[in-house]
Amino acid sequence: MPVEPTREEFLYFSWPEKALFYVIVYACLAYMAFQIVQRVRVWLQGRPIDWCPTRQGRAYWLPTMDGLRHWVRNIVIYVLEQKKVRSSRPKSGAPMHLMIFYGFLTLLIATTLLAINTYSPIKFHHGAYYLGYEMVVDVMGVVFLAGVAWAALRRWLNLKVELGAAMVDEPKQMAQRRRWPMSHAAADFWTLGLLFVMGVTGYWLEAARMSAHPQPFDWSSPVGHLWAQVQGPYSPLAYKVVWWFHMVWVFAFFCVLPKMRLRHILMAVLTTAGKPDAPMGRLRPISMEEVEQTEQIGAKLAKDLSRWHLMSTDACMECGRCTEVCPAWSVGKVLNPKQLVQDLRGAMVSGADLAVSLSPEALWACTTCHACVEACPVLIRHVDLVVDVRRNLVSEGQLSGPAATMLRQTGSTGHAWGQQSNSREDWMKGLDIPLCRDKVEFEYLFWVGCAGATDPGAVKTTKAVAELLKKANVKFACLGREEACTGDPARRVGEEFLFQEKAQQNVSMFEKYGVKKVVTACPHCLNSLKNEYGDFGSSLEVLHHTQLLQQLVSKGSLLAADPKRGEVTFHDPCYLGRVNGESDAPRALLSDAQAEPEHRRHKTLCCGAGGGRMWMEETPAQRPANRRAEELVSTGATTVAVACPFCRIMLGDSLKQVRPTQEIRLVDLAEMMLERNSGQITPP
Ligand code: SF4
Ligand code: SF4
Repeated sequence: MPVEPTREEFLYFSWPEKALFYVIVYACLAYMAFQIVQRVRVWLQGRPIDWCPTRQGRAYWLPTMDGLRHWVRNIVIYVLEQKKVRSSRPKSGAPMHLMIFYGFLTLLIATTLLAINTYSPIKFHHGAYYLGYEMVVDVMGVVFLAGVAWAALRRWLNLKVELGAAMVDEPKQMAQRRRWPMSHAAADFWTLGLLFVMGVTGYWLEAARMSAHPQPFDWSSPVGHLWAQVQGPYSPLAYKVVWWFHMVWVFAFFCVLPKMRLRHILMAVLTTAGKPDAPMGRLRPISMEEVEQTEQIGAKLAKDLSRWHLMSTDACMECGRCTEVCPAWSVGKVLNPKQLVQDLRGAMVSGADLAVSLSPEALWACTTCHACVEACPVLIRHVDLVVDVRRNLVSEGQLSGPAATMLRQTGSTGHAWGQQSNSREDWMKGLDIPLCRDKVEFEYLFWVGCAGATDPGAVKTTKAVAELLKKANVKFACLGREEACTGDPARRVGEEFLFQEKAQQNVSMFEKYGVKKVVTACPHCLNSLKNEYGDFGSSLEVLHHTQLLQQLVSKGSLLAADPKRGEVTFHDPCYLGRVNGESDAPRALLSDAQAEPEHRRHKTLCCGAGGGRMWMEETPAQRPANRRAEELVSTGATTVAVACPFCRIMLGDSLKQVRPTQEIRLVDLAEMMLERNSGQITPP
């Protein structure tokens, strides 16, 4: 009679041997749990997670139904689909990680199913199910091992390349910093070695079982079966020796899991599941009540950050993706977002002052471009951390120079460059611009912004937008001298209450004039108005000028610009392309004829002006804008199109520095549109 495919657990084991196994495995699991509880206690020092703006402050934690939905959705997107991992390092890092992840996940599910079969009354591990189970586990085990081997090889090759580069032309300190992104700590090789040995000894164990106790259906585990054929018969004792040898590595895995980078297997699930449901560009507002309670502003110690933010740092897998994309790091500044996260992890335990641990120089170097946030596979929000510590530094008077002047100017005149309110109407002369205070009827408030009103280059954009809106018969109006800075630069530098003062002032204007829709040519203003002003009572539909212009082109009210193919290259502003996810509208205005730079759309490269860096000094060698300008002109384009006044200012200087003898035109998309539309359109 044919034997039904299945296998006996603990084959040849006596009860004392089984008991010994359970004692050891429970001890290892208890040690793992102990280490995790220690970390949980560190996280619990932080502020409760009390902010989830899109749901009026409801935190997404179990057991609410909303919380559960949020958890499941994020786990599916970021853990099971590996969305972030797949979008970064697509040539080697992503496939390698996917192989390890899906291989590991299959083995984890398989082990869980086996445990259910062994310890519950439900017995299903036999027959066709058994054959399929064994086949899938065997194949995915190979995928897992191949991924681990690939990861080790990749690290070794990168180490050789970077060590070589460091030895040839880099000073020691710089070389150390530049090696950071790939992280070739010896622990990495131990970790990969442990995973590899666990996988290989797993196959050996399978083969030993087949050699000691052959069955006609062993073919369903092809790797183990082949190994068994090669090694020949085993005695029951030899089988048990191999069994214990494999288990030693499994026990070691449980013990070291929370200590090594491997812990991200657990922590990333927690972090991604419970991440705050906040737009990328929104910063947490601080209330006066909070300041009275804590007697401080911002984060001085790790415990001043939220529990989620603290937990997220433990999910860091030290992959270095954040540092690779950081514009500050790429021009040789000390800011290294990966190091920032590691330093914060250290400060969580030591209780050290964050500004000291994270380095003030690094904190001020951040442009809040969110490239690190976008790249991070475990969804760490570096910018929240940076700004929270900056808030504390500013409150303690540790900001000086032009950025401090900017704060004073914003406070005294409501203009980031210190211009008087009336100067906000200078650009309007001779253009017959409708003003809200004249009680005109309007659909869109045209929000001009500080730079848009007074910077000579940005004023060209402002005028072009106004003329295009008129040509397309869009009913719009401006606030003129009643407009104040949105407070974006102040907030990102760390002066939270100045931002809140400006936000309240502007929101009262919106209420006064019944503003429902806003269009602006400044992505920084767009971000604040759209993602942050909701905390101060406004409810606006906010469009970037390229979005509204694209709508008007689609309706036939305006013509898109029509450059020769490759003649123009477009620089995506961080706060449009990445932070607010709009990169199609600007391209539509160029009839998709632009030459694309290497960094584009949500992976754009920062010009270096955000986060208040516009008002901070830096040497030409350390200007992110110079690097970006070089990349833009290397596309071969002779015109650089922009869609942000900050980018325009930064790139204007940099183009002159990197190409002093070459004629490169710098122009906003609205101006290109105006050239095309001048006198040619009869709006419907
Ligand atoms: S913070 Fe995120 S991107 Fe940076 S090293 Fe850690 S896991 Fe990687
Ligand atoms: S926000 Fe930009 S500048 Fe700041 S750490 Fe991240 S990548 Fe670097």
